[in-house]
Amino acid sequence: MSYIKWFEDHAAKHKKVVQKLLAEGLDKEAIISYFDFENMVKNEPDFCPLYKEENEDGGIGKKCHDMEHLNCYLCACPNFRFKDEGVEEREGKTVYSFCAIDSKEGRQGVYGDKIHQDCSHCTVPHHVSYVRKHFDTEWKKIMKACRL
Ligand code: SF4
Repeated sequence: MSYIKWFEDHAAKHKKVVQKLLAEGLDKEAIISYFDFENMVKNEPDFCPLYKEENEDGGIGKKCHDMEHLNCYLCACPNFRFKDEGVEEREGKTVYSFCAIDSKEGRQGVYGDKIHQDCSHCTVPHHVSYVRKHFDTEWKKIMKACRL
């Protein structure tokens, strides 16, 4: 799947959930809490494919990152930058994505002649404090710099 397809699909899913919560009268804190991983697995099973996968304990719902309080509001990450046509050429390979803050927990993954940002060990956007700081009911507004 292309980055932009994922981005647009996820934006639509995110908007649908937030619109529902706003219609129910939830405020910022309640909306952020609703996006806690455990609650999302239970109430929004279609939001993320990992919600339906088996976890290490044999239960349903697999976390993308090993952290106790995982919040899903800012999946993927406002610091992610991508371009499906390629951002730049580097040593004969094409870079398709990178981290704008060069997080020390992230890395550039090399897959043949392609380079993609690998965020699998970075928890930056999943902390509630980070979500609070960057909160907006419009996910696309928070992510506006991601698409190059
Ligand atoms: S490495 Fe971390 S901060 Fe950078 S884009 Fe990935 S998740 Fe975001």
